[in-house]
Amino acid sequence: MSADLEECLDCGGRGELKTEGSLYGIYCEACDKWIVVTTNIEPIEADTELYSVILDCGDFENKEHVRIVSHASGMNFLQARKALQTRGSELFSGSATTVLDFLRRSKVVGVECHTVPLFPYSV
Ligand SMILES: [Zn+2]
Repeated sequence: MSADLEECLDCGGRGELKTEGSLYGIYCEACDKWIVVTTNIEPIEADTELYSVILDCGDFENKEHVRIVSHASGMNFLQARKALQTRGSELFSGSATTVLDFLRRSKVVGVECHTVPLFPYSV
């Protein structure tokens, strides 16, 4: 951030970096106001990358596995069963938040997957 942005237009004083709740920016103590303010966004919500979910291990005879894959990918049950028989098949691709949601659910029922590119968030 440039020095200009840190200067308060009202009093000419220098602002200070401040975080307050979900707000982040430069604050002037003397005037008791924000000079520059941004919303502090979770990195995962700002992530515009599309992640491909690749199957490592699943059981096509397990109804929970079929259901979860079908739900996430939009495949019908037959297609989901087929996908679960093929290690390395791409189940679907989606945003970081969508993929995180799927990975958490799939972990619970025992479907093992990885993503391309590598998923940088803890599941
Ligand atoms: Zn000021």
